Amino acid sequence: MNVPDAPDALHRQTLQSLREAMPLLWTRPARATTADASTWTLDDVRHASDRFQRFAPLLALLFPELAPAEGAIESPLLRAEGMQAALRWPRAMGKLWIKADHDLPVAGSIKARGGLHEVLEYAETLARREGLLQAGQDYRVLAEPAARACFAGHRVAVGSTGNLGLAIGVIASALGFQAAVHMSADAKKWKKARLRARGVTVVEHAGDYQKAVAAGRAEMRDDPRGYFVDDERSPSLFLGYAAAALHLREQLRVAGITVDDAHPLFVYLPCGVGGAPAGIAFGLKEIFGPHVHCFFAEPTQSPCFLVRMMAGSGQLPDAPAAPSIYDVGLNNLTEADGLAVPRASELAAAVMATRLDGVYTVADDRLFADLARLYDSEGLRIEPSAAAGFSGPDQLFTSAAGQAYLHTHGLAPAMGDATHLVWTTGGRFVPPEEFDRFLSRGRSSAADN
Ligand SMILES: *Cc1c(COP(=O)(O)O)cnc(C)c1O
Repeated sequence: MNVPDAPDALHRQTLQSLREAMPLLWTRPARATTADASTWTLDDVRHASDRFQRFAPLLALLFPELAPAEGAIESPLLRAEGMQAALRWPRAMGKLWIKADHDLPVAGSIKARGGLHEVLEYAETLARREGLLQAGQDYRVLAEPAARACFAGHRVAVGSTGNLGLAIGVIASALGFQAAVHMSADAKKWKKARLRARGVTVVEHAGDYQKAVAAGRAEMRDDPRGYFVDDERSPSLFLGYAAAALHLREQLRVAGITVDDAHPLFVYLPCGVGGAPAGIAFGLKEIFGPHVHCFFAEPTQSPCFLVRMMAGSGQLPDAPAAPSIYDVGLNNLTEADGLAVPRASELAAAVMATRLDGVYTVADDRLFADLARLYDSEGLRIEPSAAAGFSGPDQLFTSAAGQAYLHTHGLAPAMGDATHLVWTTGGRFVPPEEFDRFLSRGRSSAADN
């Protein structure tokens, strides 16, 4: 059934909230005719997951913090009863769980997944090409002098608002590459300092994230010994994120959580350029099909994925096909530095055009309020970007768009047995003074949010 996309009352309200930077939930209109742009399958996701496994012994050697997990880059799945109570959910709306990527080792954010995967893939390709790594060989050979000398002659660069730079810089320098990170003006000081302490070159750019990426891309274009991790177009990043879905399936099984018609799974994913949440949503949709519902979360001033999805659905008639948030009069100013992105990744947008269930926006005050609630109820320390997931269930339960979504998909009777999984995407390495500042701002705004 095709829903005509005439701007009815709900659409008018959505547009107004979007332009006024007020929190909103948008759900993707059903369209029977959209072609599926994705060229990947679950096998590609498995290959990424296998790559992490091949590298695990080497990672455990390079990063002593990974020894207990034998080199696995993974995070716990946590039941969050205290946070659910603090959020005062209506009765019979299911259970709140947290996927604790804020605690991912090495990078301290979700970027450990995509970022590490891409640099590992580059190192593997290079080492095989140079005859330094044979099929089936123990990857710890890449820590030996011959491989390190090879890597030392190559440069890895990336443009980032901060966290991707941290992930790429740390893994690239640990393998012995020369590493350069192009940062936008809004990147946090401590993130730059942490990279410089590891010998990574940090190049600061006056403009926003997109300008930092463009500068890095241009600098590496003509360097045959240079490799640019392109956050706006990289399949390797995407598949590295997607691999999280396979591990999550196993964690859900171990936790005794069923995902089926009568037990829907809702996943709330903070979104910047879109690569991380799209990769994960892609993997989850391949595994759980219509029983998983994926919602992206963006700051009210940086909803780049929302405007891209709305434009793709014909709901922003005056905007270009690949609009930026500036096209709708927003300013990209937010404390959620990991999400401060003006334009969505076209790769992520193409894959999500037929898969994403919805996008909602969050005001900064609410991010801080949820950050403080989470610390006070569960003792977890996250950064503001990583708090964007927590207002998703509220949006779904209380907004007109959320009610319509539950109704259209026949979900209302199953909500008591629903699982709501909030993905907390960063925070492990936030300095204590910085966290205390977040906490006091959050406690003072929690009263109204
Ligand atoms: C990068 C990031 C995201 C979103 O990832 P994108 O690929 O940019 O969409 C979410 N949370 C945090 C903390 C991040 O650093």
